[in-house]
Amino acid sequence: MIKVLYKEEELKKFLGNIRKENKSIGFVPTMGALHDGHLKLVKNAKKNNSIVVVSIFVNPTQFNDKKDLDKYPRNLDNDVTLLENTGTDFVYAPSVEDVYPQGFNHDFEMDLGGLDKTMEGQHRPGHFQGVAQVVRRLLEIVSPDKLYMGQKDFQQLTIIQFMLTRLDLATQLIICPIIREANGLAMSSRNARLSEPARQFAGIIYKTLLAAKRMKKNKSPHEISAYVSKKLNVPSMTMEYFEIVDGYSLQHVFSWKDSNYIVACVAVKVEGVRLIDNIIMKSEKA
Ligand code: AMP
Repeated sequence: MIKVLYKEEELKKFLGNIRKENKSIGFVPTMGALHDGHLKLVKNAKKNNSIVVVSIFVNPTQFNDKKDLDKYPRNLDNDVTLLENTGTDFVYAPSVEDVYPQGFNHDFEMDLGGLDKTMEGQHRPGHFQGVAQVVRRLLEIVSPDKLYMGQKDFQQLTIIQFMLTRLDLATQLIICPIIREANGLAMSSRNARLSEPARQFAGIIYKTLLAAKRMKKNKSPHEISAYVSKKLNVPSMTMEYFEIVDGYSLQHVFSWKDSNYIVACVAVKVEGVRLIDNIIMKSEKA
């Protein structure tokens, strides 16, 4: 039976007892409107921890567009139902006041090594400062052994790893693969805002990323960028950026020899909805 808690103090009390029993805690932060991508994170967390905490909190500080914040879907009862049978022990669904008891500090600026300034950061000023702020605060509340995040938000997890290292936090970040719809579109809470034809058409994003990866054998990053730009700038879709970057520094690579870990990241807009995706082009592990 999932316990839904709304207050930091209540959650801390339960987790304190759990820690006394030396049980490990896995943590999955979300903004709700859950889909299979989120549920897979939770299942991964349960495989390797005794207790799983899922937070559901639409964090106002990471929205640079107030309309986007207002439109963000919220349905706690439905989310809790979806979490049944996933291994979730606790849902933490706090109010804004519980997360930011002193109000949010707009001057808050964490050193994120410049990782927050590229790609998403250029299109959503302040977004990653808000993400870092809320994740730091949630980690303070939950103190998990392991933190589970999706590769879907590649820049986000690079920044969170940077923050964990910088603050010398003991929590280990576990990255989970991107879960996709049948046509390849990366699952996202935002997909629900697309019309059915647009949702089908958006499968072109992943198909193009796969083609880009295949082209790596005989094309340069620059040539691939030109190809992707042509494919994803069509009447029903606008490409905001496509960047081939080093997976740690998020700096452009100009040749496949520039790094052992290379990721291609893309953002497009369809029917006014921003969609992001990425593919690992080169990895020491793969
Ligand atoms: P969100 O609720 O959108 O803030 O996402 C919460 C977590 O779920 C983040 O770590 C995301 O990267 C992850 N996530 C979202 N969509 C997917 C997906 N399609 N596959 C895997 N993880 C995802």
